[in-house]
Amino acid sequence: MDVDLQLLIDLHRDADRQGPGSDVETARALDLARIDRAAPLRVADIGCGTGASTLALARLLPAAEITAVDLLPAFIEVLGARLARAGVADRVRPLCRSMDDLPFADAQFDLLWSEGAIYNLGFERGVEQWRRCLRPGGVLAVSEITWTTATRPSEVQAHWAAEYPEIDTAAAKLAVLERHGYAPIGYLVLPESCWEAHYYRPMRDRFAAFLARHAGDERARAIVAAEETEMALYARYGAFYGYGFYVARKL
Ligand code: SAM
Repeated sequence: MDVDLQLLIDLHRDADRQGPGSDVETARALDLARIDRAAPLRVADIGCGTGASTLALARLLPAAEITAVDLLPAFIEVLGARLARAGVADRVRPLCRSMDDLPFADAQFDLLWSEGAIYNLGFERGVEQWRRCLRPGGVLAVSEITWTTATRPSEVQAHWAAEYPEIDTAAAKLAVLERHGYAPIGYLVLPESCWEAHYYRPMRDRFAAFLARHAGDERARAIVAAEETEMALYARYGAFYGYGFYVARKL
């Protein structure tokens, strides 16, 4: 495996979550979906990481059967242990698979969930490809980096245009959903605490031990520096972008 990827896994595998979010916002997005929480829903959580949203969904949807998919075996292994500790391993199936090659039947799911991961495929490709697995009337809920204002300073514009050219406003993302056979139900923006308290601060707290485990490794230092650059960008320009949570029904 690529050394940088191994280092990234080492930095992130012990984290509660691998991207901005929180259990409170997972529950808020579920509220937007207006589904019967007691129903025996068939759910997929795509790009689940070590399972922050998977565990929240398992708690919030007590009769659901959940398939939690991630590309990285190391994250799926941690997820397996977390599911066992939470006592939900009997109804959550961890699956190591790429999100662009999902082994699911047509209309297999009532609910497709994905927090901070669809960018790996691209928002438009993801909503287009995953639609097949959702039953008509089923709900898609995805969080995706989004411009939260119509205009923004050129520094932050240039950064994200280079990192993720598909970043756009909520109006544009909702139009993508409409173009691909979904009826938008709702949209919310993750609050700042989802970035700082739930993602960046715990990551900063892991930096010293990570650098100690990889003492003298320039690649480890470069990874920390890149994360710090991203954090500084958010501290400076967080008023102009955030994670939008999009909830839509398949037509
Ligand atoms: N949803 C998790 C969370 O919010 O904590 C993880 C978010 S993290 C930013 C993105 C996740 O997507 C990582 O766990 C990564 O391993 C996974 N990923 C990247 N490429 C993938 C792919 N092609 N198929 C499935 N998962 C992928």
